[in-house]
Amino acid sequence: MSADPIHTLADLDTWSFPGTALAVLGHPIKHSVSPPMHNAALAEMARRDARFASWKYFRFDIAPDDLPVALEKLHARNFHGINLTVPHKIIAFDRIAAIDPAALPIGAVNTLRRTPAGWHGYNTDGYGLATAIREDLGLDLAGAHILLLGAGGAARGAAVECLQRGCASLTLVNRTRANLDALLAQLTPLANGIPLNALSHSDVATSVSEWSVPADTLVINATSAGLKASDPLPVDLAAFASRARPAGVYDMIYNPPETPLLAQARALGIPAANGLSMLVHQGARALEIWSDSPVPVDAMRTAVHSAMKAHA
Ligand code: NDP
Repeated sequence: MSADPIHTLADLDTWSFPGTALAVLGHPIKHSVSPPMHNAALAEMARRDARFASWKYFRFDIAPDDLPVALEKLHARNFHGINLTVPHKIIAFDRIAAIDPAALPIGAVNTLRRTPAGWHGYNTDGYGLATAIREDLGLDLAGAHILLLGAGGAARGAAVECLQRGCASLTLVNRTRANLDALLAQLTPLANGIPLNALSHSDVATSVSEWSVPADTLVINATSAGLKASDPLPVDLAAFASRARPAGVYDMIYNPPETPLLAQARALGIPAANGLSMLVHQGARALEIWSDSPVPVDAMRTAVHSAMKAHA
């Protein structure tokens, strides 16, 4: 893990960095692997373009109430780019100068680029997810039947990406029906004829015999079930895998590297991957947005793997 200090809001009052500063804001931020990932990429980029030798990526622990003032101060201090992680992605959405049109239906931003008028917001999580699924599982969201688990912020971003890329169908599953219904209502105007269904978490097990899951379904876990070893499975793959084998299972969780869902997929012989590649690709896209340059994805992947090992 990076030995870089964790900065705070107070540090911005006396901030002086002569180069081009980037930063991730979160609360907590201690376990973020974004600083080593981006600094490894910048070191590699500096080898072919001296401009990047003066770029550095910092981390800040910013409480949710402090986010608006932090964004103002970071702009005044000439920071060039910002990543936002939990809990800031949604809070920032209404507090920045401009939003990339593709991020509007998501209602959350994870990447900000400085403009003279203020911050311009983007969301690179969907790109990261789609690229990771293609890379790890050889599957495209376009044309896929998708079973998406979760109805929180990550699920919303994933669902919008699936619909924007033209999936064949999208079925949402969530533990809490009210949250599922709220997400369904937000997505319905974006469906453009794509079949969009919703199932309560408890309904999956009970209605699976009548529920026709296409044999080539891609299962994406966007719940936080699996962060702890004692968490329940967000869906029981064994309940339908024997008659409708999923094409693959992508779990957005990357720590732990193998959740109970991924262990079950592997035991059933279903191709499966964790969320580390999504983390890398959303980061790579953010760095492209800031630098207007090609980005060394392999250096980022290597740095993330090292940081995760050091952290284990
Ligand atoms: P939210 O808190 O917004 O949503 C959490 C979701 O998980 C809700 O749908 C919630 O259901 C569900 N959930 C929580 N506990 C359980 C449980 N025990 N059983 C079933 N469902 C459960 O979180 P986010 O959407 O921001 O993040 C979700 C996950 O995605 C996290 O693990 C996060 O680490 C990961 N992620 C990974 C990224 C990557 O780059 N790889 C990027 C972004 C997120 P309910 O509505 O019932 O509460």
